[in-house]
Amino acid sequence: TDFSSNRVRRTFTGFFHELYQHMIVPSSPVRPRGDPSLLFVNAGMNQFKPIFLGAADPRSEMATYRRVVNSQKCVRAGGKHNDLEDVGRDVYHHTFFEMLGNWSFGDYFKEEACIMAWRLLTEEYRIPPERLYVSYFAGDANSGLPADEETRHIWLSMGVPSDHLLPFGMRDNFWEMGEIGPCGPCTEIHYDHIGGRNAASLVNADSPDVVEIWNLVFMQYNREADHSLRLLPQFSVDTGMGLERLVTVLQGQRSNYDTDLFTPLLSAIQQVRPGLYRGRTGEADVGRVDMSYRVVADHVRTLSVCIADGVYPGMSGAELVLRRILRRAVRFSTEVLQAPEGALASLVPTVAHILVSWAIYLIYFQIMDIINENEAQFLSSLKQGRRVIDRTLQRLEKNDTLFPVPVAWSLHRNLGFPLDLIGLMLEEQGLSVDQRALDVLAIENEKLRCPVQTSVGDTLVHLDLHSLAQLQSEEVPHTDDSPKYHYSL
Ligand code: ATP
Ligand code: MG
Ligand code: MG
Ligand code: MG
Repeated sequence: TDFSSNRVRRTFTGFFHELYQHMIVPSSPVRPRGDPSLLFVNAGMNQFKPIFLGAADPRSEMATYRRVVNSQKCVRAGGKHNDLEDVGRDVYHHTFFEMLGNWSFGDYFKEEACIMAWRLLTEEYRIPPERLYVSYFAGDANSGLPADEETRHIWLSMGVPSDHLLPFGMRDNFWEMGEIGPCGPCTEIHYDHIGGRNAASLVNADSPDVVEIWNLVFMQYNREADHSLRLLPQFSVDTGMGLERLVTVLQGQRSNYDTDLFTPLLSAIQQVRPGLYRGRTGEADVGRVDMSYRVVADHVRTLSVCIADGVYPGMSGAELVLRRILRRAVRFSTEVLQAPEGALASLVPTVAHILVSWAIYLIYFQIMDIINENEAQFLSSLKQGRRVIDRTLQRLEKNDTLFPVPVAWSLHRNLGFPLDLIGLMLEEQGLSVDQRALDVLAIENEKLRCPVQTSVGDTLVHLDLHSLAQLQSEEVPHTDDSPKYHYSL
């Protein structure tokens, strides 16, 4: 069975799309758009916050969403969900990770959500049910919130034995996006890596042996600025499963760093810094060598994804957090691992290769922004240029079809018209221009100009498009009489 991370991700979206009519939507960028309450996107639900609140623009596409599924880029290195301190010390918290999620916006609720999740884990991914433990909300007297007995009964009726069903309080089973925002009781699925007798006691106990993999949140409230809970206009389902943790389970590993999402990176680090990564689950780690490997591997992913999304290391907010991450990575790689200067950046191509099937999503908002910015800049020039051409035409003699070189040159020089575009536009009007004269001017001018390029974006785009093409050619073709799944397990 192929449980490569790429396939695991595709199986997730395919399952919800094909069996349960979810629409596949792209990940949003890691920088939240128009939400000052967050530094980074910390969960798949962030981009849907307006829907939960009943505040989505009715003309937007989002307002039509009922069921969606995706894999969201998340960063948890600041704010309410901050895992920076744990990264590298344990083997299942990252600063950047992907969150697989499915949502119902006022559509299905608890029972369907539990059934879908269980089916995916035990039938599609073939995880033995006896390795799974489920937690549910125990209620909270202080907030006047009742225990979620309904969810407990749903799991019981699905055959989950009662000794695998565990109640927990606010900290673990009441999910909140931040200090304010949508929230609600949740039920979580945990995986027992060892098949141990005392696994139940290790749930939510920070043990590498029993790790939380999937959170199913039943969105019912909004946490208001005054800390009170307001009932939402409609009830929704919001789930999140860490791709890295799921892949660890499916690839039979004990550590996220021993899966195909990380091993190429660890090998790449070993190339720049000869020496062994002994990692696994964090056994005796003299001099924090293993931890340093993990920190560097984790942080270079975060740096790559954030920078690709246009968040650069800087002096405040998310930028400052990224600067801190970069400095931590430099510290561990040079001082502990004794890697040479430049080693960190040399890992970026490996990150891009690992995330490739999906990497176009890493940057496509950035691509769109760059295209939009350039388009906006050029559109006003285009208008001006059009006027210049029209005025010049009016001044030309009746039979004159030759456009004056100085005017053409000024279109190029002052308004940024590409020379070939000028030629094309004139051609449409039955005119021409002395291209040779223009070329001579251009060559002379070339020496003075320096090309404008966004080097970070360029490198990634290049890699992505190439590998994406490769990946597509590997895709199993989908024909009408082939089974409903065009992914195989
Ligand atoms: P944990 O208790 O392990 O810190 P969490 O309860 O904070 O996880 P949720 O907010 O419920 O996590 O997020 C949903 C899922 O996202 C988790 O079940 C887990 O699989 C994954 N996840 C959360 N934080 C991280 C992280 N820092 N790195 C990798 N995966 C994570
Ligand atoms: Mg956490
Ligand atoms: Mg938890
Ligand atoms: Mg959780």
